[in-house]
Amino acid sequence: MTFPLGLIPYIRMVKNISEITAASMLVPQKSGSLAGAYDFSLNPYAGCAFSCSYCYVPKFPNGKHSPNEWGQWIEIKTNAPQLIQKERLKVFGSRIFFGSATDPYQYIELKYRLTRRCLEQLLKYQPKKITLHTRSHLVLEDTELIKSFGASLSVGISITTDNEKIARKFEPSAPSIARRLELLQQLHKNGIRTHVSMAPLLPCNPDRLVKLISPFTKKIWIGQMNYPEINNRPHLLQKYSEFFASKNYQAIIGAIQNKMYGPQL
Ligand code: SF4
Repeated sequence: MTFPLGLIPYIRMVKNISEITAASMLVPQKSGSLAGAYDFSLNPYAGCAFSCSYCYVPKFPNGKHSPNEWGQWIEIKTNAPQLIQKERLKVFGSRIFFGSATDPYQYIELKYRLTRRCLEQLLKYQPKKITLHTRSHLVLEDTELIKSFGASLSVGISITTDNEKIARKFEPSAPSIARRLELLQQLHKNGIRTHVSMAPLLPCNPDRLVKLISPFTKKIWIGQMNYPEINNRPHLLQKYSEFFASKNYQAIIGAIQNKMYGPQL
């Protein structure tokens, strides 16, 4: 396998990259957190080299990799665009969450452009709603394509803290917070619908975090640190236990919601 030069330092951290043929691409959402709001999830890659410590995906065993190996493998579903074309009848009028178990713009996208090619297919078949979820500035390389969806597509950007050092600890291989803020700004400038996901909210200065994002988005998804049992850096939970202690944590989440939306009556 050959990779563009800029990808090599990043690829070295991922021990196992394999190309696979997937059986289907649009996965029905009949239960779980996406059910009700979305009909299908879509993930052109399996695994994720951004390697967030709190990621819930390793909670679902895939029979090939242990939770401890999270971040060290990626599977490339090379036939993803063809599958969307094959499953096109499902796309019409449907609500799709793009990137529920991977980051669709992790850097391997530079080589395979599967996310781009899947979006090109989706555009032909008029879905009702797509939420594209990422931490990566690579999404900006598809700005014009994303704009073609108009109001039916929104981009969710994970900005879980205002503190770069904290982000580096919990999300060691993801783009910096500064890059994500720049991404949010650029999408806003291009008239693309956005929301910011703070799920889970990490140790932060809540006032500063709201000030940084609120000029560029009106909507947040905010949630607490779930699944501590699969968090692959338990020492971080221990170190920041005061922040994550439930009463304090809920109060900070409530304060951020108030600052974004005003007091809830
Ligand atoms: S970017 Fe998303 S899918 Fe990737 S490791 Fe982080 S939480 Fe998991």
